[in-house]
Amino acid sequence: MSNAEKFKRMSRGLDLAQAVAEADRCLLCHDAPCSEACPADTKPAEFIRKLRFKNVTGAIRTIKENNILGGACGVLCPTSRLCEEKCSAMFKSQDRPEGADHPIQIGAIQRFLVEHSWDRDFIVFEKPTVRPEKVAVVGSGPGGLSCAAELAKDGYQVTVLEAKPEPGGVLRYGVVSYRFDMDFLAHEMDDIKALGVQFQCNSAVSGKAGAEELMQNGFDAVFLAPGLWAAASIKSTGRDIDGLFSSVDYLSALRDGRFEEVEKKIQGKTVAVIGGGSVAMDCIESAVRLEAKDVYLIYRRSYCQMPAEADERIEALDCGVHFLLLNQPLDYVTDDQNRLLGLRLVRTRLAEPDGSGRRRPENIEGSEWIMDTDVVIEAIGNIAPEDSPQWYPNVNIDDKKLIKVDPATGKTSLDGIFAGGDIVRGPALVVQAVADGKLAAAAIKEYLRK
Ligand SMILES: Cc1cc2nc3c(=O)[nH]c(=O)nc-3n(C[C@H](O)[C@H](O)[C@H](O)COP(=O)(O)OP(=O)(O)OC[C@H]3O[C@@H](n4cnc5c(N)ncnc54)[C@H](O)[C@@H]3O)c2cc1C
Ligand code: SF4
Repeated sequence: MSNAEKFKRMSRGLDLAQAVAEADRCLLCHDAPCSEACPADTKPAEFIRKLRFKNVTGAIRTIKENNILGGACGVLCPTSRLCEEKCSAMFKSQDRPEGADHPIQIGAIQRFLVEHSWDRDFIVFEKPTVRPEKVAVVGSGPGGLSCAAELAKDGYQVTVLEAKPEPGGVLRYGVVSYRFDMDFLAHEMDDIKALGVQFQCNSAVSGKAGAEELMQNGFDAVFLAPGLWAAASIKSTGRDIDGLFSSVDYLSALRDGRFEEVEKKIQGKTVAVIGGGSVAMDCIESAVRLEAKDVYLIYRRSYCQMPAEADERIEALDCGVHFLLLNQPLDYVTDDQNRLLGLRLVRTRLAEPDGSGRRRPENIEGSEWIMDTDVVIEAIGNIAPEDSPQWYPNVNIDDKKLIKVDPATGKTSLDGIFAGGDIVRGPALVVQAVADGKLAAAAIKEYLRK
């Protein structure tokens, strides 16, 4: 298999024997703390119990009925701080708070069961009787897909409007393909399409009140889940520098047919990634896999304050990434043709805690320096597009342009319009967007019954 092929494929998951062996470790807890800890209510205690007693189809049903993106969540959920953190098989105690054993691999079992259903062409849902009510879903990321599927299961006619050429949101254009590949997404999409959900791609909702007008154009309710697709930048005027990428551009280029073009830019070069979160980790690991000469991670706080998961950070260090901590990027150095030559940085020290509870980095006067680099990838956060409030001018938003909703229903301030996913929470998780989609679908059904 070529390097490019390896990059584009996920590694294999568990097989049946491994999944059953793992399920056999379940202590069958009465209070099912793992299920309590799943944001989307995927009911891990139930599907693990069923697998343990060799009811494989029942286990698959439990997952898919409760989480239409059960496969994606099995692969992508940071389980060590969700369901697996609560697993009693860890035998946590006062003396051993880290646990005397390891948790059951809940995410891996979940992934296995969903893949097994595809291998066996197992059909979970009967096609429902079509109802007259029509719902528009804006955005085909996990939030939109989850809401659409929940409604379609009950026969509502759902149309998903998607700005990009293909559906999937971050699953299609964000997460690197060696963590979540196209084939896996295609299977998960087939399960949703089989429910009768209609997709209209290359159909961005835009312009003044574009989203609100859907209510006058034949739809009885609208679910807004456009995610966050504008990239924050340390210097917005630097956008057209040759060698500078936003994480959004870089990661989507790797997945939308421009792989070779990006590979050429990275291979053998010095690459600096700015940021300390999980998206920055995807950027650095992919640069290592694309055979960059040196990869630097630049972060203005300390190692312990990085928002990325501990295992992601350790993996990055193991891959040979150089962590340049306590450094704040200020500006780019370019030649007269606007090609990137370097990054101007200033060293920082940690001061008193800020609003986030973490110690605030402050620049150390006189400590500026220039780092030579061929490529910089900015991974400092995704934000709502500048013009997004125009699409729904009567929907209340906050100062970050995130939509305000009733957390119990996903209802916005405008009757008939609901919202969820990253456009409500800010950058969050696949499983949380799935949960929002489920919650809003239940509220939309209630709204349409009145
Ligand atoms: C690189 C990256 C890696 C990540 N890795 C993980 C991970 O490993 N695990 C995890 O749990 N979470 C991860 N996340 C976070 C997770 O992907 C998001 O929280 C989740 O995708 C949010 O779902 P969503 O439906 O709100 O939005 P999105 O997935 O962003 O989907 C929104 C969709 O709406 C479309 N859209 C936008 N505007 C319009 C418009 N005007 N009209 C029509 N369509 C529109 C977009 O094109 C997009 O397809 C990652 C995020 C990124 C960026
Ligand atoms: S959806 Fe995610 S958090 Fe929930 S049980 Fe599955 S792997 Fe755990």
